[in-house]
Amino acid sequence: MKKYFLPAAMLALFEAVAVTLWITKDNLFYLFNFSYIGLSVSLGVFLFIRKYRYARRAAQLLVGPYMLVYLGIICGENMQIEGFWYYLFTGVFEAATIHYAVAKIFGPLFFGRGWCGYACWTAMVLDFLPHRIPETPEKRIGWIRYFTFAVSFLFVCALFLAHIGGIERIMFWAFIIGNVLYYAVGITLAFAFKDNRAFCKYICPITVFLKPMSYFSLLRIKCDKSKCVSCGKCRRVCPMGVDVTDNSRSRKNGTECILCFECSKNCPTDAL
Ligand code: SF4
Ligand code: SF4
Ligand code: SF4
Repeated sequence: MKKYFLPAAMLALFEAVAVTLWITKDNLFYLFNFSYIGLSVSLGVFLFIRKYRYARRAAQLLVGPYMLVYLGIICGENMQIEGFWYYLFTGVFEAATIHYAVAKIFGPLFFGRGWCGYACWTAMVLDFLPHRIPETPEKRIGWIRYFTFAVSFLFVCALFLAHIGGIERIMFWAFIIGNVLYYAVGITLAFAFKDNRAFCKYICPITVFLKPMSYFSLLRIKCDKSKCVSCGKCRRVCPMGVDVTDNSRSRKNGTECILCFECSKNCPTDAL
């Protein structure tokens, strides 16, 4: 039973958030929302432990469409970073602010970039592309993420400073157009750089939150040096270029790890 501790702990964490928000905000939606996400992600980890090949994809397909189609399009909640700024500026601790606090700001202290591996609706599509393992060397253009982060912030600032009416409607369309742009850029880069996760590595503004917080993550892949035979397979199969044999927090690309477990699945000596 010990091996099922991780999915059980994740489910318990999400349930704690679900019940706390349900009671404090007096809104049953939060109980449903976080229970559903917690169940989906825990199911993905559980299936992975049971050696089901498409475990992570199952979690992505359960959470991604729910957030993109149901919350974003049907309920009209902008769950992108612009939505986070918008709700933050209006002083409302709802929707995108709660989502960001749980999945992208404080959650990564516990589960690192699990969001990126199991729940993100952008990566859900990118992971279907043919370049799962990067085929070209890493590019030195990670600075673009700070630019996109600043643009999203300035865009929402400008809406407030200009006292534009109907911001709710604008945020809805910003969500639709933003997602179309993310998919277009993400798919183009994946083919241009022969790397499905190029968008995540260089463009995604959310990594400005995710990377520093996941540096301190409780949950991380560790290498048992006594078992490692330095075959390098873990490095070759890693979609994010992490040097997982280095146990230090400052290991190469350590904050890029999306906890996909491809490295541990492929390690011939079970060192990971
Ligand atoms: S880096 Fe951005 S686009 Fe990629 S999985 Fe994470 S949140 Fe999604
Ligand atoms: S795959 Fe396993 S044995 Fe090979 S280098 Fe990585 S940790 Fe070591
Ligand atoms: S292969 Fe291993 S090190 Fe690389 S992203 Fe997946 S879990 Fe992290």
